[in-house]
Amino acid sequence: MKIKTATFAISAPDFKSCPHSVLPEFAFIGRSNVGKSSLINLLAEKKDLARVSDLPGKTKLINFFTINNAWSLVDLPGYGYAKVAKSDRLEFNTAVRDYLGQRTNLQRVFALIDSRLPPQEVDLKFVHWLGQRTVPFALVFTKIDKQAAQHSRNTIDQFKKAMAGSTAEVPLIFATSTTTKTGRSEILGFITQSLAKGKKTFVPAPMMNQPRAETAGETDEPDSAAE
Ligand code: GDP
Repeated sequence: MKIKTATFAISAPDFKSCPHSVLPEFAFIGRSNVGKSSLINLLAEKKDLARVSDLPGKTKLINFFTINNAWSLVDLPGYGYAKVAKSDRLEFNTAVRDYLGQRTNLQRVFALIDSRLPPQEVDLKFVHWLGQRTVPFALVFTKIDKQAAQHSRNTIDQFKKAMAGSTAEVPLIFATSTTTKTGRSEILGFITQSLAKGKKTFVPAPMMNQPRAETAGETDEPDSAAE
């Protein structure tokens, strides 16, 4: 996919403020510092696109960007732990929870994971949360240039093992580096495929959110991890 236009559309503080868009949406989420802004900028080929999301007051908002007037890239605020009594509870803001649970034109959530670290409890909990709600997601292992390829492969294998049982299907996996641009064409290629499938499976009604496109006729995509 060639990126012709990538523009900031709107920031939403809560679910009801999300745009009444008919464009298919692809959302990105991860813990702070995982490399989300860098990846968004790389995908959009715009150095400062995701800077909007870092501006004061914007970090807790859902930020929408329009790409090629054909789809929306959605930058979601991250998640963490709430220290509640003895248990650590997965915590993200209500806007993100509602968005992930209710957004009908959401095509895929890209959950970003730092490829340098062994499986982190909070990432596993988040992925499990997505799996339980059958939210379609892909895992994106970031910063793979930071270590030997074998180390990244081990991290990915460990994560896959640790999350076994969280989802019915083998998750889609991408491995990325914003310094070498690894993974960019794979993610954009996947989005292109999803858009083409979406066109075949539904006709958007004006001023209405689209139903999820993945339910009809979607097959498992092959793993895109660097192997
Ligand atoms: P965010 O908080 O998730 O938006 O993370 P940023 O995109 O701001 O990245 C956090 C830090 O990691 C910055 O110093 C980036 O330059 C660095 N970083 C992000 N992605 C990569 C990558 O693929 N490779 C390397 N070497 N550094 C990265």
